This record gives sequence, C-alpha cells and structure tokens, in this order.
Amino acid sequence: MINSAYNKGERDSKLVYRLAGWHYAGVNRFDTNYAQRAEAEYKKELGKSQQKCQQYKQQQKASKGCTGEFINPAPGYPVTDNYGWSAWRGRVHHGIDLGTPIGTSIKASDGGTVSFVGTMDGYGITVDIDHCGKYSTRYAHLSQSLVKSQQPISSGQAIAKSGNTGIGTGAHLHFEIRLGGRWGASQDPKKFVKFN
Ligand SMILES: [Zn+2]
Repeated sequence: MINSAYNKGERDSKLVYRLAGWHYAGVNRFDTNYAQRAEAEYKKELGKSQQKCQQYKQQQKASKGCTGEFINPAPGYPVTDNYGWSAWRGRVHHGIDLGTPIGTSIKASDGGTVSFVGTMDGYGITVDIDHCGKYSTRYAHLSQSLVKSQQPISSGQAIAKSGNTGIGTGAHLHFEIRLGGRWGASQDPKKFVKFN
C-alpha cells in the first residue's frame, strides 16, 4: 500500500516535472523565436531608415539643397561695412554690406527655401532664405526680388537685383547669416564666407 502510494506520487511528480519541462521549453522556444523575430524586424527597419537617409542625401545633392557651406552672394564687390557694433548706428550691424550698384544680380549663399519676400522696416525689399532650419540668410535693400515665398533655391541661384530701398547710405547689398530661423542670432558672415 505504502509502496503503491509512493509509486503514484513519484509518477505524479514525474508528470509535473515533465509538464513543467515542456512548459519551460515552450517559453524558451517562444523567447528564442521572439528574439530572432525582433532582431530581423530591427534589421529590416534599420535597413529602411538607412535607405531613406541615403535617398534624402541623394535628393539634397540633386536639388542642390542646403550644403551647410555659404558663398559670396555678390562676388567681385567690395565690403563697405562690417558686421558688429556700429558707432554711427549706435547699435549692432547684423550683417555685412557689399558695394553693389543698383541692378546687380544677387545669388543665394546656399541652397534652401525662400522663407520671406517683401518689404521690411529699414531693410527695404528683402529676401530671406531658410537653410534646412539650421541657418537663415537675408538679402536687403534690394530693387527687385526674383523669387516667391516657399520656393526651393539652389546655391548660387539668382534670387534678386540689388538696390537702395529701405534705410541706407546709398546702393548696396546688406547680407546677413543667422543661426536657426529668420530672427535667430546674427553671425559674422566673414566666419562663413570669403569676401573680396
Ligand atoms: Zn548693412
């Protein structure tokens, strides 16, 4: 009697162990599949995002979008006033002035998107270009703009004709580089561009 109860108990516990074994084996097997599946999914997503990144770079290259490098918007013309504190203005001069005669073709300093075209107090006729949200450039005292708001622009593209609109001391181009958006912190353009 004792013997048979013992045997039954042993049988039961063996069954429990066996069930537990299957159970744990099942969990382990599921975990393995899950890890493999997750890794495969991750690699697929990574591949997709790498592909997107590559496509974006190629598009940028093809459309000559923002390169992060700036060129002289009016090559060949002399600097007539520098960036920085201006005693006669009694304030900071946020850009650099180039001695361009009225009607000089003004070039986009880098590729981007036109963020503003119009007349601004003091600045006169002005074009602002957004460079992928990282920088913004401003071209002021123009006689004529050749672009529309939101128009994509390539580096070196003619965007305006210089003039003497707004408050100024005669015909010239006022050129600004700002960090971030249109009213971001102004920078010394000489840090980015080699002028004549
Ligand atoms: Zn100026």
